Amino acid sequence: TQRTLSLIKPDATRRNLTGKINAKFEDAGLRIVAQKRLHLTKAQAGEFYKVHAERPFYDELTTFMASGPIVAQVLEGEDAIAKNREVMGATNPADAEAGTIRAEFAESVGENSVHGSDAPETAKEEIAYFFAGLELV
Ligand code: ATP
Ligand code: MG
Repeated sequence: TQRTLSLIKPDATRRNLTGKINAKFEDAGLRIVAQKRLHLTKAQAGEFYKVHAERPFYDELTTFMASGPIVAQVLEGEDAIAKNREVMGATNPADAEAGTIRAEFAESVGENSVHGSDAPETAKEEIAYFFAGLELV
């Protein structure tokens, strides 16, 4: 079993979609083992997405991620990283498979409702960015 970091992004919390998104995770066999709502500053969003610092969309991305509350969560399950990304669908909702979170809920390539870690190393770092050891059981 594996753990991954998931974020429900501001476009989705704004539209009150947290429960519908969580149902998709649970239906796919992912267990929500930690969860909290928070509102990042632009600096905190910039730190989280620093791998994209040189990308043309970095400023838009970090402004968006600080534009409202997010829900940070740790998902657990067999192959959780890959399974979560499967449930999320492609980055651009226009390319996302039917039934995926992004196909159903995302508004654009930028405002695409969810984030999921992309590898074991980044999952570990990203979980530690949002959750203290004592919050994880
Ligand atoms: P995430 O890392 O959020 O799970 P991802 O791994 O599918 O998404 P990345 O390539 O890591 O996609 O991009 C990170 C985020 O940056 C995307 O989820 C999206 O919000 C934003 N983004 C990516 N490409 C663009 C773009 N061309 N224009 C605007 N925003 C973009
Ligand atoms: Mg990514």
